[in-house]
Amino acid sequence: MSGGDKLDFEIRPNPAPVSVADRATLLADPGFGRVFTDHMVTIRYADGKGWYDPRVEARAPIPMDPASAVLHYAQEVFEGMKAYRSVDGGVTLFRPGANAARLNTSAQRLAMPSLPAPVFLDSLHRLVEIDREWIPEGEDGSLYLRPFMFASEVFLGVRPANEYLYCVIASPVGAYFSGGVKPVTVWVSPNYTRAAPGGTGAAKCGGNYAASLAAQAEAIEAGCDQVVFLDAVEQRYVDELGGMNVFFVYDDGTVVTPPLTGTILPGITRDAILTLAAEAGHRVEERPVSFADWQSDAAGGRLREVFACGTAAVVTPIGQVRFPDGEFTIGGGEPGEVTMGLRQQLVDIQRGKAADPHGWVHRVL
Ligand SMILES: *Cc1c(COP(=O)(O)O)cnc(C)c1O
Repeated sequence: MSGGDKLDFEIRPNPAPVSVADRATLLADPGFGRVFTDHMVTIRYADGKGWYDPRVEARAPIPMDPASAVLHYAQEVFEGMKAYRSVDGGVTLFRPGANAARLNTSAQRLAMPSLPAPVFLDSLHRLVEIDREWIPEGEDGSLYLRPFMFASEVFLGVRPANEYLYCVIASPVGAYFSGGVKPVTVWVSPNYTRAAPGGTGAAKCGGNYAASLAAQAEAIEAGCDQVVFLDAVEQRYVDELGGMNVFFVYDDGTVVTPPLTGTILPGITRDAILTLAAEAGHRVEERPVSFADWQSDAAGGRLREVFACGTAAVVTPIGQVRFPDGEFTIGGGEPGEVTMGLRQQLVDIQRGKAADPHGWVHRVL
């Protein structure tokens, strides 16, 4: 089997799946990222051979040689998306074509092979189909899908690997916020940046997350929920959070987010919100926002709302900003109207409760 646009998956159902009763218990309160389904997808890649051996099989540990390249040089990229139960009883994905494209942009930056979009989509369909009973029933539940690809070649030399493994695993998740959407407090790190020009900030790679963890720990230490990163060159402009993009809403209704200059991850939620905000009549701008302006506009009342967005939490209001010299509050620390409106609109489209004029919703089952 060579690396064409279509691969024939070998389906090997798990001979010992989780019992119906145990699954029901797990699905009652899955949390985030700690419960997993019965199956996974794996596809191998070798230079000269292309993608081969595509499988849907029992989820299991991956045997790995200690000299596997990824363990040493972090050649790894991933995606994050959700399968939703639609109000009509179907199962859908949100803009999976955009995830396919982004996986390949990330792979290219990490000098990895690209996976044909039809194979990526097929891998998601197969996994969602075989593990469909793992999609939580509730309003807020979904099946989080984690496609990822890493250098599996056994070699310690520093160069792009010749062998890769692509996998998809799935994890049922409940409401991100139990007890309603709650604004978070963010920490502006004085010590760390996330991504420099020419670096990997626009690629969804594990290495970016590894580099953000010390800053995130600093945020927790300071009593905050998340870290917000400033640009690496001047430490002046707001880039994004560790795993979410950021939006600002002003008193004249203008909605602003920092531009994609290569240091910010191009979020699919970010893109959808830009579209929805414009359609709702907001003036929408992609422009740099300095931390100094953030502070003074919040104090002066011109800045009304700030929120973060991404697949996992959809839209998260930011109520408070803390930094070594002080802190300030946005919108009295309460979720804003524009923030919650955009959130609801997006969730309604994802759940099939609202019209989908852009064809964002992709039916799986
Ligand atoms: C995944 C991710 C986002 C959000 O992207 P979505 O496509 O909206 O889920 C934002 N920032 C970073 C650093 C990310 O890794």
